[in-house]
Amino acid sequence: MKLSKLTLMAVFAHPDDEAFGTGGTLTKYAAEGCDVYLVTATRGEAGQIAEPDLATTANLPYVREQELRRACQLYGIHSPRFMDYVDGQLPIVHQGQAVGKLVRIIRELRPQILITFGPDGIYGHYDHIAVHRWATIAVDLAADPDCFPDQLADACEPHQVSKVYFRALPEEQVAAMAEEEKPAAVMMDGVPFYFVGRRRDEITTVIDVSDYVEAKLRGIQCHTTQVGRQNRFADTPDEVMREPWFRRESFVLVRSTVGWPERVETDLFAGLR
Ligand SMILES: [Zn+2]
Repeated sequence: MKLSKLTLMAVFAHPDDEAFGTGGTLTKYAAEGCDVYLVTATRGEAGQIAEPDLATTANLPYVREQELRRACQLYGIHSPRFMDYVDGQLPIVHQGQAVGKLVRIIRELRPQILITFGPDGIYGHYDHIAVHRWATIAVDLAADPDCFPDQLADACEPHQVSKVYFRALPEEQVAAMAEEEKPAAVMMDGVPFYFVGRRRDEITTVIDVSDYVEAKLRGIQCHTTQVGRQNRFADTPDEVMREPWFRRESFVLVRSTVGWPERVETDLFAGLR
């Protein structure tokens, strides 16, 4: 199969979800001339404000939208698309409507590759898990002309995504975090939501983003209301950029219309070029 236009679409829940595990990959494919899109379900208004001078609870959604817009510029990808949901409420919004929104975006952008969260939601965040479900259901329905037929009237033709990937955190990375942070978790509602590591043999795809670590690092720092001005990325950037875990991004291929890799893939578009 020879494709003239390569299109990649990532679907996440909050501004900054793209930064840590996929910032390098988004940057790399944009730099190679692919059309790279990011769809974010919310504007992250439930996040903490690490730097009180940067935002108030009232304008946090606006500020986080701007942070994500700047990050996307640094990655060199298209402006982010927002699904306009409220942070923290994804499991209770109308699920059919949310899936319908994604089906429409898939039919419009026509990506060969879709990246989203796995069922682990990286650390079990309920918004991440909701997005995982929406995106995987939307991939199936987008290809089916009987689903959301009203969209077809707007020349939104059915589209089959060729490969679907879940973002994955290798278990050794979680182990390393545990050594530093104890426990490796994100506190939500006063309890730890533990990071979920994937075994090496579950990871199908590793993208070398060594050439793009600077954009990845700067993309993370765009989310200043979340990461703060002082953090390891700002304090010791050269050290972070040398870290193997920062230079490689891992994925699990879960759907493919173009076959399955026999060994670890190093290109999301393998089989499609
Ligand atoms: Zn998130």
